[in-house]
Amino acid sequence: MKKLAIIGAGVSGLTVNRLLSDRYSVKIFERESVPGGLIRCKNVENSLFHICGGHVFNTKRQDVMSFFEQIFNLDKDFIKTERNSTVFFENGEVIHPEKHSMFVHRTSWVDGVPYPIENHVYMLKKELQDAFIADVLKMQRSHHRRLPKNFEEFLRWNFGSTLYNIYFKPYNEKIWRTNLKKIPIDWLQGKLPMPSCAEMLYNNFNHIRENDFVHDKFWYEREGGSQYLADKLAENADIQYNTDVSLIERTKKGWKINGEDFDVVVFCGNIKDICNVLKIKEIEPFANDIEQLDWHGTTSVFCEIDRNPYSWIYLPSDKYLAHRIICTGNFSSTNNRMKRLSATVEFTDYVSQDEILANLSRMPLNPHYITHEYTKYTYPIQSGNTRAMISGLKDALAGLNFYMTGRFTDWEYYNMDAAMGAAKDMVERYGI
Ligand SMILES: Cc1cc2nc3c(=O)[nH]c(=O)nc-3n(C[C@H](O)[C@H](O)[C@H](O)COP(=O)(O)OP(=O)(O)OC[C@H]3O[C@@H](n4cnc5c(N)ncnc54)[C@H](O)[C@@H]3O)c2cc1C
Repeated sequence: MKKLAIIGAGVSGLTVNRLLSDRYSVKIFERESVPGGLIRCKNVENSLFHICGGHVFNTKRQDVMSFFEQIFNLDKDFIKTERNSTVFFENGEVIHPEKHSMFVHRTSWVDGVPYPIENHVYMLKKELQDAFIADVLKMQRSHHRRLPKNFEEFLRWNFGSTLYNIYFKPYNEKIWRTNLKKIPIDWLQGKLPMPSCAEMLYNNFNHIRENDFVHDKFWYEREGGSQYLADKLAENADIQYNTDVSLIERTKKGWKINGEDFDVVVFCGNIKDICNVLKIKEIEPFANDIEQLDWHGTTSVFCEIDRNPYSWIYLPSDKYLAHRIICTGNFSSTNNRMKRLSATVEFTDYVSQDEILANLSRMPLNPHYITHEYTKYTYPIQSGNTRAMISGLKDALAGLNFYMTGRFTDWEYYNMDAAMGAAKDMVERYGI
């Protein structure tokens, strides 16, 4: 049997192993001491801390769902949950919240509007409703005359200036930490909802909530969160942990890693490392473009917060830097053994503990700090040529039996299912 090395035991590397371990003798190298990469979780104060994000599973790809169902017993090990997301407004934008049936669970002084807010404009105060109606009439007249060039234009032209100013702008500026005019539109294509004016009006008349859409249900592990998913994917895999692969040498017959020979390598680490790890001439034409690739990190703060019914809470307020609270304690009862509710408060990029504490003190739901983790690479940012450049590099290396897939090799905004799908596509495309 030919020998295949995989770099990285995240979702991508573990999927590649599952797809190829009957055809190759596979060994995975992982720098951490556990599998999972971004989806790793820790047990803190008897409750589950997703060290990054909240990690729930859903997919629209039938082949990915079938792959998932071959490995996991969905009825036994997972819970199917409906998203219950909300946007918190803190400056009186919401009118008489207690009169709306959706506020029966109102938990604090903050006014929440169910996500997506463009379906719930009827909850905003009259001036904002009037301004939104004027926006819709304007958008209807000017629609499709030209394509938006950047994220700001995309949001303004699709949702109107009123919603842009009270929500989309402040929320997205906290996430992306940049002027939204600087985010090119080609990177976002296909990733964002684009409701028509008629749809927004219909959804407002009928109070259509997010969970009225089929794809807004998700699967979540009964016990152990996404660490369970990673551990199960890694079952029976040959994984060498605590091994940072810093050099992959080319040999006459294939590749050498840590003194061991392999016929084939699948790299599921970070493309930013590839020029150092792989010192071969085929990489050189791509080195400059790889160097230019931009990204964001995430500071995830594990907290105890006031009980509430939500899964995700989006925070456009400029009083603090955090952009969302993921109420992981609500995802499964086994996640939360606190008196109140376990949750992750998310900040873009590095935030010091002092800054975290100062920010938490200004936030709703009385978050009490427990611990935090900073992850350097979380959100890859593409520019106009990124996809073509990476695809060229992958083709150039495929001829050498060196393949690449993953969120940070493809530099794509993949969810877990998309990472699994990309791994499948790579295996099929190159006939590995
Ligand atoms: C904040 C946030 C929230 C998210 N929420 C969701 C969600 O709810 N649902 C969802 O489906 N997806 C979600 N995602 C996306 C999901 O995390 C990714 O799609 C998935 O984890 C990517 O897996 P990967 O294997 O490609 O990369 P990674 O998870 O980064 O795995 C790469 C692995 O390779 C290892 N590695 C790298 N280089 C080396 C080296 N040189 N030597 C040895 N080991 C190496 C790393 O240690 C790591 O374990 C979220 C992402 C973020 C950032």
